Amino acid sequence: MKRLLERPLFFANWKMNHGPTDGRAYIAAFLRAFPPHPDRTVALFPPALSLSAVRDARADRTDIRLGVQNIHSQEKGAFTGENSAPMARDAGAELVLVGHSERRHVFGETNLEVARKTALASRLGLIPVLCVGETLSQREMGDAERIVVEQLQIGLEQMKGPELGDVIVAYEPVWAIGTGHSATPQDATAMHLVIRATLREMSGRETDSTPILYGGSVNRGNAKTLLNADGVDGLLVGSACLDPEGWADICRT
Ligand code: PEP
Repeated sequence: MKRLLERPLFFANWKMNHGPTDGRAYIAAFLRAFPPHPDRTVALFPPALSLSAVRDARADRTDIRLGVQNIHSQEKGAFTGENSAPMARDAGAELVLVGHSERRHVFGETNLEVARKTALASRLGLIPVLCVGETLSQREMGDAERIVVEQLQIGLEQMKGPELGDVIVAYEPVWAIGTGHSATPQDATAMHLVIRATLREMSGRETDSTPILYGGSVNRGNAKTLLNADGVDGLLVGSACLDPEGWADICRT
């Protein structure tokens, strides 16, 4: 399954913000501020509880794609409080964030769990956005590349060959998320090249069709520079996407 997502990609992670009522108001304001742009892909990742409301508010603006921030690693069952890939699809999601740093570092998600979720998402028709990134101490110890390569190799190892072509990767250094200190364009490029090389090695072929996004303290001021960095195919944005007009500005970058 190969779905075309026009580059650049602008992905908005609402995290635990905007319930259904706020979500509807957000969509109304965002759609006013951002008419369809066929030369790029915009996707919103609201909390699961808001997804149906956002989908309904989006109405015929299906150029705005939707995703969820997490799924369980199993298709269904006795997992109180969790959401499954089929439920996410039913509620309007096309994409899913997997292995976001907050899932890894706040909720203790392991590379193996991330791998199960990535493979399941892909098998059940969601496009996984595999998030990878090193912590500050790992970077300071010179371990950043090794950590990111390991997250990729384990995170993708349960996928069948062709499914690898349907993944999106987001490089999100943990030290840049929510801190106001984004990576420099040079640092982003350096890691994106490592990610590209790892994807090629794993798949045994060119992987230029796999978008690699940068995320971590992107805002209106730095979005253009980061997006113009070599190897950066799009942006994954947290705090700066919470205001619909500000987000529309970033999406116009
Ligand atoms: C994120 O949560 O994926 C993120 C990039 O957050 P922020 O933009 O706030 O750093």
